[in-house]
Amino acid sequence: MTGQTSQAGTTIAFIGLGNMGGPMSARLVSAGHRVNGFDPSTDARQRLQDTGGSSVDSAAAAVDGAEFVILMLPNSTVVETVLADPAVRGNLRPQTTVIDMSSSEPTSTRKLAEDLEALSISLIDAPVSGGVKGAEAGRLTIMVGGDETAVARAQPVLSHLGSTKHAGSVGAGHALKAINNLLSATHLLATAEGIAAGERFGLDPKVMVELINTSSGRSGSTDNKYPNFVLPGTFDSGFGLRLMLKDMKIAVDLAEQVGAPSRLGAQATALWEQAADDLAPTADHTEIARWAEPSN
Ligand code: NAD
Repeated sequence: MTGQTSQAGTTIAFIGLGNMGGPMSARLVSAGHRVNGFDPSTDARQRLQDTGGSSVDSAAAAVDGAEFVILMLPNSTVVETVLADPAVRGNLRPQTTVIDMSSSEPTSTRKLAEDLEALSISLIDAPVSGGVKGAEAGRLTIMVGGDETAVARAQPVLSHLGSTKHAGSVGAGHALKAINNLLSATHLLATAEGIAAGERFGLDPKVMVELINTSSGRSGSTDNKYPNFVLPGTFDSGFGLRLMLKDMKIAVDLAEQVGAPSRLGAQATALWEQAADDLAPTADHTEIARWAEPSN
């Protein structure tokens, strides 16, 4: 679904104004919406103010009077905490659509949706791929889960952030996002090992990446992450290593819940877990390449 744009002037609560929520909320302000944002970080709130949005000092104040509530939070635990707050519940009005754009746990999402349905509030999941650059440019891939009516209602708002695809019932977007990131993390680590071996053999990593990108080993890691963040040595994609690890665990748990094999996924997750133990808490996920090849 692309191309539809919402009428300006919708009131949107935006909770979580970090690396992704910051540029996403700014795009909604630019599109002419009234955005009331909340984040515990005063810097993040100031950035929203600077773009012309309004920052408020609690999630409850942000959701007051909102037609849409967008959540862009670290994980399901934080999403659950925000939505369980009685002050937030008290200010959510019937017919409000809650859109969880965080990469959350699908089973938790389903429970939350059921819970809110009893209050006539719809919850859909709409996690994204495309990183900070995609968020800034409004070119995210948005994987949507939820009932048709709620998804159609949210579509005009989401169209300012990227292109949407309805993946299935509530939780489907979150399941797909976790699976996507398990694949992404696995091939990033595989790429790091391959490039390190080639480099030790005397190959130039730039030449390797260029040739792999027109060969069958190419991936988002060789196409985007190596040329933009690993080879320049900046490791600044804006997506934390621990957030990636969280997504990998969601995907491996999901496979376990449904009885699907995840032998490679579990091994890759264990390696990323070691990297998380070794690297700084703020490490970018692309630093897995540095971790895999310590001489880099
Ligand atoms: P981030 O850590 O930069 O931002 C999260 C924000 O949530 C922070 O500003 C934090 O202060 C805020 N927060 C924490 N608790 C809160 C609360 N109770 N109420 C309101 N705000 C609260 O993370 P991010 O990179 O923006 O990622 C957000 C979500 O998007 C995560 O689920 C992540 O997995 C997912 N994601 C990130 C990227 C990326 O490239 N960064 C890409 C796709 C998906």
